[in-house]
Amino acid sequence: LSSPPRRPIRELPDELVSQIAAGEVVERPASVVRELVDNALDAGASQVTVRLQAGGVRLISVEDDGAGIAREELPLALKRHATSKIGSLADLESVGTMGFRGEALAAIASVSDLGVVSRAHGQPAAWLLDASSGELRPAARATGTTVEVKELFFSTPARRKFLKTDATEFAHCLEAVRRHALARPDVGFAVWHDGRLSEQWRAGSAEQRLADVLGEDFLAQSVAVEYSAGPLRVRGRAGIPDAARARADWQYAYVNGRCVRDKVLTHAARSAYEDLLHGHRQPVYVLHVEIDPARVDVNVHPTKIEVRFRDSREVHQAVRHAVEYALAAPRSAAAAAEAA
Ligand code: ADP
Ligand code: MG
Repeated sequence: LSSPPRRPIRELPDELVSQIAAGEVVERPASVVRELVDNALDAGASQVTVRLQAGGVRLISVEDDGAGIAREELPLALKRHATSKIGSLADLESVGTMGFRGEALAAIASVSDLGVVSRAHGQPAAWLLDASSGELRPAARATGTTVEVKELFFSTPARRKFLKTDATEFAHCLEAVRRHALARPDVGFAVWHDGRLSEQWRAGSAEQRLADVLGEDFLAQSVAVEYSAGPLRVRGRAGIPDAARARADWQYAYVNGRCVRDKVLTHAARSAYEDLLHGHRQPVYVLHVEIDPARVDVNVHPTKIEVRFRDSREVHQAVRHAVEYALAAPRSAAAAAEAA
């Protein structure tokens, strides 16, 4: 009787481990944009410039004026599970940065041709690290970091085949920057595509940023949301029912500054419009939930786009009430004026 074939267990080479992990983190150029802009913001940047070529497939470059990376740490920045953002489980439970897993740059480098140029704050020179050759050489730039990602998925043609047209990939990249821009009006953003300036949002007030990113109409057709339930705070803007759209594309939800896609938040916001919107009309809103970091788990998925609340009922209720109150306020003010 012959036994079934048995294959030995082997440890996978680092490169392959990274490529497998990259599958979860890097779906398309926009995923790279999101990770690189996250890093720029974590580094305390006040200006972030994104340059794309061919929808980001040929080139994604993200330049910031943040704290930079010291020369001796540059190779570490590209290593899996190497991060400056957490050092312990306790840190993880109260993480205040966008990143903390230390895997984005390693993942991106495994499926592209990646280079980092950085000059750390207080250092006299900049250094360039080429990920594929490991070569480190002097470069010139002001304090801050530029990460250049070329030929995304060139080594993984199967992945490359899933990419859409340049125009579509660019639209997704732009959307990724838009999400960040809505959360950080204090930071200036610029997006270039194929050598042309596509968008430029200067640092300013939250209202100005909303108008810049979503248009003056959004500002005119929305009401301020401002609500607290104990330590939980909900703020932002909710569109009036007339501003509703056919698609759910203008629904921006943030938890402690992180843009998330979360069923609890979407459902809560939607339920505030229950009696105001009919059919498939989709409300528009930009909502920021501020919550004790210990009451929300952001380590649910490598892309960190999903979160888990310790008490989702509490969050649902707060968001629903916040939007309901905001929508009711102007009408009751108008009614009061009429009655007078
Ligand atoms: P994470 O953001 O989860 O720490 P990354 O792979 O995205 O992991 O980045 C690894 C490390 O490289 C970061 O922890 C940070 O120290 C450094 N780094 C990456 N990008 C930048 C940047 N733009 N400015 C300064 N440091 C950066
Ligand atoms: Mg990161």
